[in-house]
Amino acid sequence: MTAASSDLPVFSAIKPAEVEAKVRVLLDANRAELERLLSVPPSWKSVVEPLEEMQHRLSRTWSPVGHMNGVVNSDELRAAYNACLPLLTAWNTDLAQNERLYQGYETVLRTEGAQLTPGQRKLVENALRDFRLAGVALPPDKKQEYKTLVEQLATLQSKFDENVLDATNAWSRHLTDAKQIEGLPTPIVDRALAAAEAKQLTGWLFTLDAPNYQAVLMHGAHEPLRRDFYHGWTTRASDQDGNAGRWDNTALMDQILAVRNQVANLVGYPNYAEYSLATKMATSVPEVRGFLEQLATKSRPVAQQEFDELSKFAGRELNAWDVAYYAEKLKRERFDLSEEALRPYFPLPRVLSGMFAVAEKLYGVRIAERNGVDIYHPDVHFYDILNADGSRRGSFFVDLYARGKKRGGAWMDECVGRKQLGGGATSLPVAYLVCNFMPPVGTQPSLLTHSDVVTMFHEFGHGLHHMLTRVDYPSIAGINGVAWDAVELPSQFMENFAWRAEVLPMISAHVDTGEPLPDAELKRLLGTRTFQAGMQTVRQLEFALFDLRIHSEFAAGGSSKILQTLAEVRAQVAVVKPPEFNRFPHSFQHIFSGGYAAGYYSYKWAEVLAADAFSAFEEGGIFNPAVSGKFLSAILEQGGSKDAMDAFVDFRGRKPIIEPLLKQLGLAA
Ligand SMILES: [Zn+2]
Repeated sequence: MTAASSDLPVFSAIKPAEVEAKVRVLLDANRAELERLLSVPPSWKSVVEPLEEMQHRLSRTWSPVGHMNGVVNSDELRAAYNACLPLLTAWNTDLAQNERLYQGYETVLRTEGAQLTPGQRKLVENALRDFRLAGVALPPDKKQEYKTLVEQLATLQSKFDENVLDATNAWSRHLTDAKQIEGLPTPIVDRALAAAEAKQLTGWLFTLDAPNYQAVLMHGAHEPLRRDFYHGWTTRASDQDGNAGRWDNTALMDQILAVRNQVANLVGYPNYAEYSLATKMATSVPEVRGFLEQLATKSRPVAQQEFDELSKFAGRELNAWDVAYYAEKLKRERFDLSEEALRPYFPLPRVLSGMFAVAEKLYGVRIAERNGVDIYHPDVHFYDILNADGSRRGSFFVDLYARGKKRGGAWMDECVGRKQLGGGATSLPVAYLVCNFMPPVGTQPSLLTHSDVVTMFHEFGHGLHHMLTRVDYPSIAGINGVAWDAVELPSQFMENFAWRAEVLPMISAHVDTGEPLPDAELKRLLGTRTFQAGMQTVRQLEFALFDLRIHSEFAAGGSSKILQTLAEVRAQVAVVKPPEFNRFPHSFQHIFSGGYAAGYYSYKWAEVLAADAFSAFEEGGIFNPAVSGKFLSAILEQGGSKDAMDAFVDFRGRKPIIEPLLKQLGLAA
């Protein structure tokens, strides 16, 4: 094997003004190369490997641009990004619709199928499936229609995101009455104070980022402020957000659903949900609906009980903006514990090093920070994952604090995919881990809530899946080629460790005293895990059923159908009744602009897989090397080179069952 190459992106050299030209040059080169390889007899060597190479090269150029557009957005970069989107979509559609290429892959399977490794075979079969989904069998005019629709969709989805970002950024509250901020955690108040000072204002200036929103909803004692933030958050980019429709996503949502439905119909599926399931572990809409409704049946009575209990505790009828506040109070009373009070025990540096130690113990690797790497923002750090022999396995960037011009939420994304083709240099996998935690204030490090900690374990689980892969072909390495509804298995699996008594002392140390989380606190924290698990479950089921239904029942019509479906789903599963003005779907980026369209159920589906996988660790000891070694080799290292069900059965010795999840959530009868 030749030495590993390590060409990381040079973020500082990315000039928005040059992005489009560079992408055009690369795409032209790819097109010329494609012509050349299609002129020779098709084989694994002559078609499949060069194509893997080409896509890998393109992804390495584009990934840092897309990443920066998400985390250090600017008008110039956004314009460049948007200019490239149709070009890239057109290239991918050209590839996906290339009949000669399709025939090439068919020839490879027919003539070399017997010699291919199972992974290589899976790659070719995936490609053939995707060709069919992309309408390769369509007549030329239909092909053109398909291409136009896909480009349209990319633009619509990008606009949806922009509206959410702009509407969010446009919202702020300048408060001057101390009564209004009563109950809010000090770090949140300090941040708002600093923001006001920066604008020469007295009092406090709040933006609508996730930490502020969550803090107000959970801790704000002043009900009008909670209602105000709730209104701001749940009406973003809608007809109700007070911006006179400037960023209203209503029409876009209809257009997105309509275009998706057309795409599905064009290649022979009755609706977009069935089209979406063609590449997933689940096999049909009724199967998924049945799965979700079965979980709803188990969890709704528990959720209703929890909600009644909460209303009783509050001594009043609860509005949607009251639920988190009273839940936090009840939780505090019951467990004598507040999320905020535990922040000092979870300084970010300690959590990171402890989380790395967990991965090191489980998988026999070492994680080391590397300085001097080109980064795009001073908050960013870079780490290598090293094998036991000191060789590099993969690397990752971490970008963990909330800031302006950065998309909300937390995610892992691919920077570089693993690649080893025909004895050439090995590209090692590189990942981005992004969160939106409260930034450090003054000299104090960022202090996390335990749910922040769980979020970080989740994203790191994705990162490990991407970085520990042993697969050589980029399109099936790491998270690539893994069915969407199985891709959350490694991340949700990893969350379990953040709850273990064996792990908590590794990830906690009081910011002032260095003391680990005291035993009593630890016991109480563990007790909170199933607190209101029924309510949380029905909320996820509400999103999942809503998503599945709007994508399987689409009929051309007005926006009311979206809200009507949501109302029906809520009547079926929800226990908290939201107010009339709630326009949650208008900022539901997962399904309207992200990759979860008709796939939101995947979270629960994968939770079942993750809880069942983790139950093997509970049986064998959570740091039992035999169990973790098997998980590493059967699941993490396999990436998309194997069918998700087969990989699971390899690890667990049987198909997944639902009981470990119900037990984990305290929903088991
Ligand atoms: Zn995830």
